[in-house]
Amino acid sequence: MPRQVSTITAPTPELTEAERVRILAKSALFNPPPAELPDGRRDLVGLTREELAVELAAIGEKPFRAKQLWHWIYHQGATDFTRMSSIARPLQERLAERFVVGRPSVATEQTSEDETRKWLFRFRDGQEAETVYIPDRREDRGAVCISSQVGCTLSCRFCHTGTQRLARNLGAAEIVGQFMAARDAYGEWPSPHGDVPRLLSTIVLMGMGEPLYNYENVLRAMRIAMDPEGIGLSRRRITLSTSGVVPMMDRCGAELGVNLAVSLHAVRDDLRDEIVPLNRKYPIAELIAACRRYPGASNARRITFEYIMLRGVNDSEAEARELVRLIAGIPAKVNLIPFNSWPGSDYRPSGREALERFAAIVQDAGFAAPIRMPRGQDILAACGQLRTDSRRTRPAA
Ligand code: SAH
Ligand code: SF4
Repeated sequence: MPRQVSTITAPTPELTEAERVRILAKSALFNPPPAELPDGRRDLVGLTREELAVELAAIGEKPFRAKQLWHWIYHQGATDFTRMSSIARPLQERLAERFVVGRPSVATEQTSEDETRKWLFRFRDGQEAETVYIPDRREDRGAVCISSQVGCTLSCRFCHTGTQRLARNLGAAEIVGQFMAARDAYGEWPSPHGDVPRLLSTIVLMGMGEPLYNYENVLRAMRIAMDPEGIGLSRRRITLSTSGVVPMMDRCGAELGVNLAVSLHAVRDDLRDEIVPLNRKYPIAELIAACRRYPGASNARRITFEYIMLRGVNDSEAEARELVRLIAGIPAKVNLIPFNSWPGSDYRPSGREALERFAAIVQDAGFAAPIRMPRGQDILAACGQLRTDSRRTRPAA
């Protein structure tokens, strides 16, 4: 008999606090490089508004300059101080001597037959990560799928990124910079406001890495993306996907309040322990309890459970029924993702019949259960196919 999850217990607060401290200390070992360039200039992208004001005060400028610069950087998308026409020439020159408005550079860019576009972005220390733009076929909008780490520590069995060791965390500038560089490519500046359609209309933190293992940088980056005087994406247009870092889910809910997607993939601990090894630390009951207390979950803002359909592994009707039992009462939808294969992977995607039977059981229980057809497979841009050859290049700082 498979091990059943029958009781839902909340973790003790002491444990959660200790775990939080451990996770934060661990993520500090993989810090991104400093914001200073070799020539001494500093990148302004990634600073909070307050930090930007401090930088400007240090060169004798008043706080309103921070507001002006913020507008140029995040609303207009300017990277060149000479374009900032509300700033007088002498100040433009002083700014250019001390600062830059950085972007990751494009190492490669590929467009799929289905219009999905993938970039391999290169950062200042040579590390690289992938970003994918998935346009909505029917409308003028689409999702930008952003990476949070170079590699991943978590080694989920079905995931290409998981075969790569963690090289390092991405910094806030590198995280929001992926979105900004994608916008550059589509010429979507200044930031559209109100009812004006946006091509790049949502951010999904579903690229390489586990965002809740790089929480501080993700938090900063998303706060920048949400600032109404800049990029101005509401928290409803941002979805963070986690494999289930339970203690950080609480913080994410309290501090960011973005939509949550949870990579569930199995309904029994024995199987989930195997395919999502993080489950050994935070088993299904704790994960589901954290979902139940995630703030703001409502019918209008449902939690997404991602469920990768692996042929003969997790796709039976009994598992569909157990899934429904586990998430009963949570305002949720279930995304069924047929396994996307990659070179060397040892699973196969479920067949259409298994997918449809599974979806029908979940739908009959009242949950939306779309089958997510892969996008950009021809360029290895679909879920779980991202991987770079980056290696860890420097010891922990
Ligand atoms: N680390 C986070 C976010 C990145 S992965 C997480 O695991 O949630 C984004 C989604 O792609 C996750 O749901 C992940 O489980 C899924 N995924 C990974 N490998 C996949 C594959 N080969 N086929 C389909 N989906 C995959
Ligand atoms: Fe990391 Fe997510 Fe891939 Fe698991 S599925 S290895 S958590 S990126």
